[in-house]
Amino acid sequence: MPWCDTCDRLVADDELVEGTCPTCSTELAEPERRPVTLRFRLLIVATAIYLIWRFVQGVQWLTHHA
Ligand SMILES: [Zn+2]
Repeated sequence: MPWCDTCDRLVADDELVEGTCPTCSTELAEPERRPVTLRFRLLIVATAIYLIWRFVQGVQWLTHHA
């Protein structure tokens, strides 16, 4: 259950209105969201590493075939 700082109380998951507090409409992080965000970040990092690796390979190909 997320905590609302504005209302100073716990908000039940079924009370949330699209991830926001039903009383003050403050956006409250859903616990389920964090692993998805972490997985998404890992995907971005993996993609970046892959692109850098491809770039290095491309540079090596160019230096060998120049
Ligand atoms: Zn609130």
